[in-house]
Amino acid sequence: MQIIQIPCRQDNYAVLIHDDETNLTLLFDAPEHEPIAKILQANGWDLDAILITHYHYDHVEAAASLKNQFNAKVYGPKLRSEGQDYINHYIQDLKEIRFGNIHIQIFQTPGHIPEQIVYYIPSLKSAIVADTIFSLGCARILGGTAQELFQSLELLKQLPDDTNLYCGHEYTQSNGEFAISIDPNNQALIKRIAEVKMLRSKNLPTLPTTLSNEKSTNPFLRCYDAEIRKTLNMQNASDEAVFTELRLRKDSF
Ligand code: ZN
Ligand code: FE
Repeated sequence: MQIIQIPCRQDNYAVLIHDDETNLTLLFDAPEHEPIAKILQANGWDLDAILITHYHYDHVEAAASLKNQFNAKVYGPKLRSEGQDYINHYIQDLKEIRFGNIHIQIFQTPGHIPEQIVYYIPSLKSAIVADTIFSLGCARILGGTAQELFQSLELLKQLPDDTNLYCGHEYTQSNGEFAISIDPNNQALIKRIAEVKMLRSKNLPTLPTTLSNEKSTNPFLRCYDAEIRKTLNMQNASDEAVFTELRLRKDSF
């Protein structure tokens, strides 16, 4: 089984999973038609299913066109307002979905927007986190609440530490500037920022990251940390209050 991260648009990523044994191919998010179709065709793969994390246009713009070209089925969360006509199956109420040998766990992770799904594939030690967690950062609040996002990140923190996190955007470098302003003496963070600078200077992706990596460097997963609390002058606040303050500060950074 293989997993491929595909750069799309300005700074988006889509993720493909292909199972050689069953010849099944799944796509997670559809930000742009061409780069995804190119990889499918270069490998001679059909597309069996498209799984949507959330309905921001930069994650779904090519969903209908890829569905039509490859005759794929599309899965995604149900919107509170209205449905999307290219969706075949609403899956927000499922805990798990299986395609042949590929078992996927489904997590409700509101916060960025109310309807967002994270897909976790234990056999690949991988989670498609899209716009919930970014490397060194987290989602902006665009319809959900900071409290919801905090709870969603707490849920994702329960995954095994060696889980690969496939984030929806290459935001790591700019996120690092905020992170280091909040947590300036964090040696793991200083090291990560240097690595990110090197990778980006060669136009290489900084993703996927791992949960353990983020736990040691990402301020939004470190609200308990004494140094971060000192910076914010919030020594006795709850983790959730620290998170909310970090999110507010990042918005105007
Ligand atoms: Zn989004
Ligand atoms: Fe996005």
